[in-house]
Amino acid sequence: MTSQRTRDRMLSRLRDQGIKDEIVLSAIGNTPRHIFVDEALSIRAYEDVSLPIGFGQTISQPYIVARMSELLRNGQPMQKVLEIGTGCGYQTAVLSKLAKEVYSVERIRPLVMKARGHLRELKCINVKLAHADGNIGLSEIAPFDAILVTAAASHIPQDLLDQLAVHGRLVIPVGTDDQVLYLVERVSQTEYRQTKLEPVKFVPLLGGTS
Ligand code: SAH
Repeated sequence: MTSQRTRDRMLSRLRDQGIKDEIVLSAIGNTPRHIFVDEALSIRAYEDVSLPIGFGQTISQPYIVARMSELLRNGQPMQKVLEIGTGCGYQTAVLSKLAKEVYSVERIRPLVMKARGHLRELKCINVKLAHADGNIGLSEIAPFDAILVTAAASHIPQDLLDQLAVHGRLVIPVGTDDQVLYLVERVSQTEYRQTKLEPVKFVPLLGGTS
């Protein structure tokens, strides 16, 4: 169930679904998804579905992790990346293979602990986790050349736009009932280019910590 063959099948499915970036595919192929879910669910870990991780939250579907990573990377290695919504840390682990430094923020403390354990097990040493409200980003570490939000926002938070480096890329699901994935590129100090992509389904981006 968790064998290399099962993972290879997942990769060929991702290719069929249109994922082309081989660096992203190899990062996903080298990240064991089953360790991020409870043992009872590990049999389903390589299916293309989101799964519960407790606290009313989910681990993202492999396709969406691949799609967002591909959009963020845009065919180039990344230096400093910020993720909002660590959850169990699966997307974080994939990003750690695509960027030099990864910062990830989660508002639910027990999930931060859980993710920390998983990322330690996988020896993702270039990742730092923070228990905080991601709506305000991480100003002390900014600017970031890529920011990924893995929960649906009602609007694009201004702090995240401010913390994007010039030529940086922000990928964020926006909306409540009907959510759409957006790519925002910072074209210059004052100019941003916004591209509306496909419909998506994420848990909501909430405020505060718990
Ligand atoms: N990246 C995860 C997806 C986790 S689901 C993966 O790879 O599977 C989204 C996560 O966003 C949840 O854990 C939720 O608690 C968190 N979240 C929601 N609002 C947040 C906020 N304002 N700041 C930080 N994390 C938030």
